[in-house]
Amino acid sequence: MSIYKFQSFRATQGYEWSETNTWTKGKALTLHPIGDPTWNKLESTQIIELPDNVWSEFIKTGKGLVDHKGHMPADPSEESIEVFKKKIVKFCNIAGFDQYVPTSIPLLNMVKEKADAGNPRPTTVENIVGIIATLVRFNHHIKTRPVISDEAIQWLNSSATRMDYQPVFKRSGLEFETTNIFSSIFISWYQSAVRKQVQKCVVCKFPYFARYSSSETCSGTCRNKKSKGSK
Ligand SMILES: [Zn+2]
Repeated sequence: MSIYKFQSFRATQGYEWSETNTWTKGKALTLHPIGDPTWNKLESTQIIELPDNVWSEFIKTGKGLVDHKGHMPADPSEESIEVFKKKIVKFCNIAGFDQYVPTSIPLLNMVKEKADAGNPRPTTVENIVGIIATLVRFNHHIKTRPVISDEAIQWLNSSATRMDYQPVFKRSGLEFETTNIFSSIFISWYQSAVRKQVQKCVVCKFPYFARYSSSETCSGTCRNKKSKGSK
């Protein structure tokens, strides 16, 4: 029996977007700690504990940009991108973030390009939304077929080499402590998927973490819509 403790590094000053010279040595709009586009001021970070549903809170930031099947619009509106940028900053201010995104390549392209799934990429909108879209798609698969897809398993395994976690022996059992946001997101998602704690909202269709299988809606907003509709 393994126990997970999900953790992440959080910049105490919060996060922002800016188009500055990043660690990639190129100009790109990236998400980073406020005033620290190169992520070098490590003294201003703290390690925090994250809940089991951290993956669900993460993908929620892409709602409105990514559809419930994990498709991204070819030409997203300026407005939807601005909304996403605000929502992901809010998420990071609570859950922290990493200085890179493990991958942004859709799986089919990854096979074509023979790219490494764990290949680090800068924290651009496209790269972050790429991860969200992939996870939403895997969740969609779970709800259309009863098992975790081969694609998801393959993706997790190829990302695992970049995952950051360490085993800690405890009297109660072996505990795995993750130490960055994407490890926390991937492993918490996998755990939810295995425990069948992934649901699709009956109102907005978006996948979410549900502790109980009787859960039908993702939020108070959708719950209200549902009860209005059924009257
Ligand atoms: Zn909903």
